[in-house]
Amino acid sequence: MSPIDLFGKDTPIITINPNVHESSYQRYKRIYKYKKSKDPVKKCLNCVHMRGYEYHNRIYYKCKKIGVSNGAATDIRLSYVCTQFLEKDRMKEMIMSGKICPYCLNSSHLVDSKEIYGKSYGLIYLCRPCDAWVGVHKGTKRALGRMANAELRDAKKQAHFYFDKIARTDLIHQVWSIEMGNITNRTKGYLWLADSMEMDPQECHIGMFDVEQCNKVVELCKPHIK
Ligand SMILES: [Zn+2]
Repeated sequence: MSPIDLFGKDTPIITINPNVHESSYQRYKRIYKYKKSKDPVKKCLNCVHMRGYEYHNRIYYKCKKIGVSNGAATDIRLSYVCTQFLEKDRMKEMIMSGKICPYCLNSSHLVDSKEIYGKSYGLIYLCRPCDAWVGVHKGTKRALGRMANAELRDAKKQAHFYFDKIARTDLIHQVWSIEMGNITNRTKGYLWLADSMEMDPQECHIGMFDVEQCNKVVELCKPHIK
């Protein structure tokens, strides 16, 4: 049996040599092969996000995905944490690019949309067991967003119905009176939506939303439409 660390992973049993004085930090360094270096940018055991920060004339290595603090112990645990972050990121990316089905997490198939519509409108990423799919940008294999099942397809339609009434017309300028220079109503519409939903504009697109987010769009847009 081996001990379990903070993140539920098995860790090697820490052997203590009574003849050698070793602090717990040194022990961790020995076991996790954690090395200090003068190089301000170095890789952690699992990813490339470790960076050196100087604090009180010492360099601390921290995963920039986590942030900066100064506890030496957390330096070592970070190798697990950033792997978790990376896996989460990778998964999200795979889902957002249509490669993985968000419902069953299996790989999707790139097929002709004829299979769904009876007529070809180009390629789609499809998961047959979940009845989920998403189209691609014309002439590419780039998915328009995450794959959607019947419930989400309906929610997205609703969201677009109300959002387009604002973002495809001049109504956006009444809804959000901020002067933004030479941008399209649609771009301004999405900036307003990102602001209202308190999210990163980069990730704010109805094609990327889940059911809950689509419902939120309807809730935000509806009151502005007569
Ligand atoms: Zn599926």
